[in-house]
Amino acid sequence: MTTQEHLNAIAAPLLAWYDENRRDLPWRGTGDPYKVWVSEIMLQQTRVAAVLPYYRRWMEALPDVAALAAVEEGRLFKLWEGLGYYSRARNLQKAARMIVQELGGRFPSTYAELLRLPGVGEYTAGAVASIAFGEAVPAADGNVLRVAARVAAVEEDVLDPGVRRQFRQWMLEAVPPDRPGDFNQALMDLGATVCLPNGAPLCGGCPLSSLCAGRAAGRAAQLPVKRKKAARRLEELTVFLPLSQGRTALRKRPDTGLLAGLWEFPHVPGRLDEAAAAAALGEWGLVPIQWRQRLDGRHVFTHVEWRMTGYLVDVRGEGAGLTWADGPALSALAVPSAFSRFLAAVKAAIAAGADRGEDAEPSSPAGS
Ligand code: SF4
Repeated sequence: MTTQEHLNAIAAPLLAWYDENRRDLPWRGTGDPYKVWVSEIMLQQTRVAAVLPYYRRWMEALPDVAALAAVEEGRLFKLWEGLGYYSRARNLQKAARMIVQELGGRFPSTYAELLRLPGVGEYTAGAVASIAFGEAVPAADGNVLRVAARVAAVEEDVLDPGVRRQFRQWMLEAVPPDRPGDFNQALMDLGATVCLPNGAPLCGGCPLSSLCAGRAAGRAAQLPVKRKKAARRLEELTVFLPLSQGRTALRKRPDTGLLAGLWEFPHVPGRLDEAAAAAALGEWGLVPIQWRQRLDGRHVFTHVEWRMTGYLVDVRGEGAGLTWADGPALSALAVPSAFSRFLAAVKAAIAAGADRGEDAEPSSPAGS
């Protein structure tokens, strides 16, 4: 059997299995392209269980494309907070505005048209076109590539762009024209619940086991083949968590690049001791008057890892270029999860100060 023949053979048993075992998800069965699109963007690198509360909250606040196009950026980021990769939320809104302003509110209904939306790649275009519009195109994400590589015992590197293009061609031919959306969702479900990643497929309960070449060859756990990724760059940062009169100070990140447009605690490169940190605070016109706590933090992005040293510190001074926020104001700002440990410490310190009735600058002597 060729690879194509293997993949052509999966539709019938896969769809029969799906009819009995499909996951009941709020965006399914609606035929609403907006819901399918938002759910697929949220699900990128995030598990279904984690996405569900975000999805429900989002749909209550932004039930359609027009609402998404009109929402203010801070509110948009707040709805996305915790899902990471804020550029996705930004692209969702850009695409919604394109639909409203350039397409007269008509949602693009073909794979080719969907691909023109910001933030929509081959996978998302395939998912929306097949699920919401019945177009016979594949939606080949990592889950689907894994199942396909195992079923057809493909030993080539699935991270290679040429190999991925080849997979897309195979899957394009394997999608049944009468049920393309169900076929793609069935593959997603099988990849998420049976043909699991990291060498642990549950072949005993798999509807494709009798035709799975990877299983027959004893290679299921080793497939798909992926070359090693380049190591992440490590960056050390010293992060300041300034406190003054029940407030803390933050700054807004630039409108482009990593974590664009979000709020962050001021930081400088390197791992500074208190003396060097005091000098760095001086750049913002802040003077440390009590070092309260030193906290470590770590956050892993796709290409870079931040190793952070945080200083919770009482200060005096204006904080040039910084924005001061009290507890409620802080809760309304979208602060990326990279700073979540620091954010929790700052909120607790502000709340504890409020409980003690602090409303003036601390009177303790300078720490260093
Ligand atoms: S038989 Fe095993 S390896 Fe093959 S598709 Fe099913 S779960 Fe995956």
